[in-house]
Amino acid sequence: METKTFKGGIHPPERKEATEGKAIERIPVPKQVVIPINQHFGAPNQALVKVGDVVKRGQKIADAEGRMTVPVHASVAGTVKKIEPRTQSNNTDGPCIVIETAETDETDFMPALDAFSCTKEEAIARIRDAGIVGMGGAGFPVYVKLAPPPNKPIDVVIANGAECEPYLTIDEMTMIEEGAKVIEGLAIIMKTVGVKKGVLAIEENKKHAAESLEKLIPSAGRGLDISVVLLKTKYPQGGEKMLITAVTGKEVPSGGLPMDVGCIVQNIGSLKAISEAFSDGKPLIERGLTLTGKACKTPKNIIAPIGTVIGELPAEVAEIDLDALRKAIFGGPMMGTAVPHLNIPVQKNTSGVTMMDATEAEATEEGPCIRCGRCMRGCTCRLSPVLMNNAIEAGELEKAAKIGLLDCIECGSCSYVCPARIQLVQRFRVGKQLLRAQRAAAAPAPAKA
Ligand code: SF4
Ligand code: SF4
Repeated sequence: METKTFKGGIHPPERKEATEGKAIERIPVPKQVVIPINQHFGAPNQALVKVGDVVKRGQKIADAEGRMTVPVHASVAGTVKKIEPRTQSNNTDGPCIVIETAETDETDFMPALDAFSCTKEEAIARIRDAGIVGMGGAGFPVYVKLAPPPNKPIDVVIANGAECEPYLTIDEMTMIEEGAKVIEGLAIIMKTVGVKKGVLAIEENKKHAAESLEKLIPSAGRGLDISVVLLKTKYPQGGEKMLITAVTGKEVPSGGLPMDVGCIVQNIGSLKAISEAFSDGKPLIERGLTLTGKACKTPKNIIAPIGTVIGELPAEVAEIDLDALRKAIFGGPMMGTAVPHLNIPVQKNTSGVTMMDATEAEATEEGPCIRCGRCMRGCTCRLSPVLMNNAIEAGELEKAAKIGLLDCIECGSCSYVCPARIQLVQRFRVGKQLLRAQRAAAAPAPAKA
């Protein structure tokens, strides 16, 4: 099979061997969960419960009106003990609902729905009601992608099975163990949007997963045109823009979205969740993730309820050597977020937790820029990281935007290749937040009726 790719890219060490091929383990239900109210890219939610309320597993506990919102559901049955700010996986404090788990497991799922006989509107409403977001990135609500404007017809839906992030193996194992659900989720999107072509795009270092999916297509693919495409193993092959270029040859324009070139890209975990939202009426209340890094003595792939606090996992689930731990990252080392401690809950977009010891966590002391230009050569989006960094450092956020700040996919390749260890991607993440806040503050207030 021909392998496809994009131009450029880097080859950080894969470091997947600790969990590669390890069966996914469902962890015991934790004694309590801490569920962030806002786990999506969009307007903030409001809590629908109060302290003392008894909730069922799957019950909606936070939601909001508005196009870019998705609800959050209780991942265990129990009693709401607190609603208070806690540190979240993006390293900021945000409101969380703390639920103490009950001994009984009462559920409040939706009725099953046949995605292939219901209307498009019913299917989109189901995906929203199930609280499904992109489970590999910023938590973009999936249903929003399924209703593109009429002038943006979609030709292909791409399942993102690249998993190019070092250390992480949960997508690979999900494709191997839950392949039929992944294909079903892809077929549901294709049917809902009316798209004829579906592609399962997988890096060639996961040939086992690719072969296993290929065998399942005839039985799980609903007779649709679904195929497997192998991708070269390199970073950031799983970035939406790179994936689209590799699979279709098209380039998403600056400031544009996949729909601008007729594509929808969806994460593997999200496809499985979509399948379960229809077949079982189950909202997104649990997810698969990889626990890894040398400070984790029991590296593995697990399924955990959303809200499971990593630092509260019992030793039989995760034996963490806190003396050896030098750096904890929610996600992988390239695109993940370093966190100050492990008392942080699993969220809808937590694909892994990487716990590094001193041998893995490189010294991060920054030196001065030596103007070597490696960051520019290493940037797959053809941006000028050093110039964007200079503009952000000078407080000139609009200038950074002109140079391309909002086109940065935060892949971290520039930081990886920088010999001065300048924390470029970290600055770009903060710079984007500041720029958006600055623009929102400068926008005229809506006229009063
Ligand atoms: S500037 Fe952004 S897109 Fe380019 S390499 Fe750095 S993090 Fe990646
Ligand atoms: S790679 Fe680092 S040192 Fe080289 S130009 Fe870019 S920021 Fe400067």
